[in-house]
Amino acid sequence: MILESQRRAVVEHAPELAALTPGRTGNLSVRDGASGDAFAVTPTGVPYDSFEVDDVPVVGVDGDRRDGEMAPSSEVPMHAAIYRREDVGAIVHTHSPWSTAMAVAHEPLPPIHYMIVAVGKRVPVAEYAPYGTDELAEHIVRAMDEADATATFVENHGLVVTASDIETALENTHHVESLARLYLETRAAGLEPRTLSDEQLETVLEKFESYGQ
Ligand SMILES: [Zn+2]
Repeated sequence: MILESQRRAVVEHAPELAALTPGRTGNLSVRDGASGDAFAVTPTGVPYDSFEVDDVPVVGVDGDRRDGEMAPSSEVPMHAAIYRREDVGAIVHTHSPWSTAMAVAHEPLPPIHYMIVAVGKRVPVAEYAPYGTDELAEHIVRAMDEADATATFVENHGLVVTASDIETALENTHHVESLARLYLETRAAGLEPRTLSDEQLETVLEKFESYGQ
């Protein structure tokens, strides 16, 4: 079986999407290494816990379907296009409510808490384009590149997080979701969130690099 370990990772981690995103709107993928030419991705139209390893679709970074009993997520073109442009090993995409509120307001997330450095110094907003299009993937990659971030909100859509592996991508999705919530709840309380300086963020980055989180 091709990409067996990546397909197992999709089966193992897909149920975690249920806690993040409404209905069956989220998807995740795991690549054959950070520069591999294919990836395993969640199938479309089935609950996150109702498929097995040989059901999991395998798709080339060119977008061609290669294996798997089930049809891939409709947002596969976005995953393929990101992998063509970025050396990352996993992608998580959700319509998780707090991040999607930021996406609806076209509001980037400033550095209100040191944990933001898990994904960069801020979370940008990628310009809207219809889901599943190459145009949307280009907007997502551009937003992350310009912000030097591994996560971005997507206008009127949701959140995309990339990482070297699926465990980190999921963990960082939770971080962004909880920071978006913190930001919006602070503002809802009528308070103005204060941000960390670039120097303070650099210090946190150094600690992350030497000791981990
Ligand atoms: Zn979506």
